[in-house]
Amino acid sequence: MNVLKFGGTSVGSAERIKNVARLITTGDEPRIVVLSAMAGTTNALVEIADYLYKKNPDGANEVINRLSLKYAEAINDLYATPEYRQRAEESVTAHFDLIRSLIKDMFTSFEERIILARGELMSTEMMHLYLAEQGIASTPLSALDFMRTDKNAEPDAFFIKENLLNLLDQYPDEKLFITEGYICRNAYGEIDNLQRGGSDYTASLIGAAVRASEVQIWTDIDGMHNNDPRIVDGTTPVHRLNFDEAAELAYFGAKILHPTCILPAKQSNIPVRLLNTMQPDAPGTLISNETDRGTIKAVAAKDNITAIWIKSGRMLLATGFMRKVFETFENHRTPVDMVTTSEVGISVTIDNPKHLEEIVDDLKRYGTVTIDRDLVIVCVVGDLSWQHLGLEVRIISALRDIPVRMISYGGSNYNLSLLIPAADKARALRALSRHLFDAPEATAEQ
Ligand code: ADP
Ligand code: ASP
Ligand code: MG
Repeated sequence: MNVLKFGGTSVGSAERIKNVARLITTGDEPRIVVLSAMAGTTNALVEIADYLYKKNPDGANEVINRLSLKYAEAINDLYATPEYRQRAEESVTAHFDLIRSLIKDMFTSFEERIILARGELMSTEMMHLYLAEQGIASTPLSALDFMRTDKNAEPDAFFIKENLLNLLDQYPDEKLFITEGYICRNAYGEIDNLQRGGSDYTASLIGAAVRASEVQIWTDIDGMHNNDPRIVDGTTPVHRLNFDEAAELAYFGAKILHPTCILPAKQSNIPVRLLNTMQPDAPGTLISNETDRGTIKAVAAKDNITAIWIKSGRMLLATGFMRKVFETFENHRTPVDMVTTSEVGISVTIDNPKHLEEIVDDLKRYGTVTIDRDLVIVCVVGDLSWQHLGLEVRIISALRDIPVRMISYGGSNYNLSLLIPAADKARALRALSRHLFDAPEATAEQ
């Protein structure tokens, strides 16, 4: 069994849906196809919910009308026969009617999650109908029947596996299954989701549950590039990554992959392939357990970082200082990304400043606290294990003209992170590409 996930752009128009239909019906291996909502849909649904939280039904109605027009147009272009056009219209209209029925006084996260689920429900129903119109049999699997999170909002792998396998057992002769990415039920049976961009996560959770031969993430670019293609010109695809390298890149800002997506695949040792729907023959990126020794693979950047520096004379020879500092972040449920220490202090970074004020208040018990805002973490990824000579030097010397606030190396074999001002991000990424990838060898001296 293969799992093939198609993102929003890949199903973003009638033309694109037809293209995906061709791709998922090529080849013999049985497959589970995971679809995102059509591009722009989830953003529009978030906007609708936002208007409803703010008790502005007119604002919500305007977005609903705009979105439903987009769907009417797509349906018109997608189906060849009046019969299927009508069936698709009925299905999509039912979803928009449900959204409209939620325009009421009491609007809570319960109603919001019901609205956010509509995008994936509509795209999968539209695909199923399109395939049926083409005379191609496909079996819809409702993600709401098997994809579930537990009381900690973490996927319930046991429930997912048991229920998905039970469902699949009912169709022993079917080869093409279609399901929704992103949506799930929570521990209370309510409609919920795996967070924005979570369809990648759906795909790898399904891959792990069915022990797939491969999880394919189909998107609008030919694999993981060696730098952010939205900022740097001339980036090129990286053909092979190991799971840890891919996880670091995803976590540190390479949007092509959702950060959570790697773990289930890694734990089950299922290769993940990143492929381009617009260029299906391009090799893309294969993510597996294999490591290319001593090679720098790619650069990514994570925005909106705040650094907190706690300086304390008492840190000298003191035990327990670090514990108190980290406990403070834990107490305010704020994860820490980067850490550097010296004898007089410790610097940490966070990307969620929601509880910054309380954190600083508490930290002042242990030392003098200084905050630096508007920073980015630039993360260089590859096999950077310390036995390989010369790689750190190449990275750091590329940034000789950039003020560097923190450097972190040695926390894993695969990452060297630098904290720099947001204003210097583009310049830093371009300099790294020039020094690491345009220059002849990005491999370690042997
Ligand atoms: P999908 O809708 O298919 O999930 P995404 O928009 O989430 O697609 O991810 C694909 C986008 O990720 C690309 O269009 C690209 O602009 C962006 N991206 C950011 N960093 C990278 C990178 N290092 N390699 C490839 N794509 C990247
Ligand atoms: N449609 C959802 C989003 O836009 C999930 C996804 O596309 O992965 O966040
Ligand atoms: Mg995505």
